[in-house]
Amino acid sequence: MWVLLIINLAGKAAALLVGWSAPAAGLALWFGPDLLLAYHIFVPNAQGLVRMHRRFATARREVWLTLDDGPDPADTPQILELLAAEGAHATFFVIGERAAAHPALIRAIVAAGHEVAHHTHTHPLATFWCASPGRVARELDDGLAALRAAGVTPTRFRPPAGIKSLWLPAALRARALTSVGWSARGLEHWPGGVEAVAARTLRGLAPGAILLLHEGPRVPAAIRVHALRRVLERLREQGYQCVVPAAGQLAD
Ligand SMILES: [Zn+2]
Repeated sequence: MWVLLIINLAGKAAALLVGWSAPAAGLALWFGPDLLLAYHIFVPNAQGLVRMHRRFATARREVWLTLDDGPDPADTPQILELLAAEGAHATFFVIGERAAAHPALIRAIVAAGHEVAHHTHTHPLATFWCASPGRVARELDDGLAALRAAGVTPTRFRPPAGIKSLWLPAALRARALTSVGWSARGLEHWPGGVEAVAARTLRGLAPGAILLLHEGPRVPAAIRVHALRRVLERLREQGYQCVVPAAGQLAD
């Protein structure tokens, strides 16, 4: 992170020096580093600010299924049934305030042998990138408190839509949280229905892939759970198992 900030400040200083005689170069020096910083904040799997794991090391036909934005009283029980029927294991990146509202669902996820991970307390999608250090700390600590109240101490974190902030790296380190991205996602709001969501989720499928789907009311009703069912069917057809990798397996 500090490298990006130093580049940014050096660019500003150089822009002031050069800008008097070469305005175009001055503008490029002023705004260029901002674009670089914006790239590493907004592009979900960009690695400059926070190391976002995008795959895991495995020699077997295994993938890591991750489900964001729950728990959800309508979806989570159905998802647990589907996973059990397929013998699949997954990680649920849950929203703290939803976990606080439905602690029994968190306990049911854990009891079924799945992992519960941290996805902020309120899912501040539009404002997380510019959140103050105090706000970032509250998002992490309130979410941790909600999960601990349900009996879980998470070790993994995913920022909303993969959007990071300047204060996130230190805040994650202080709480021993590892950040997880993905190698493919369903993009459930894009056009095309269940088959298209499944196809996007399985694009470039390979051992060690991290797949991202969502549960809960943010997903269109016609897609919810159905897309996951289709993904699980296709994974079974292709001989893939859904596993939760150990910390040492995570890779870039
Ligand atoms: Zn989310």
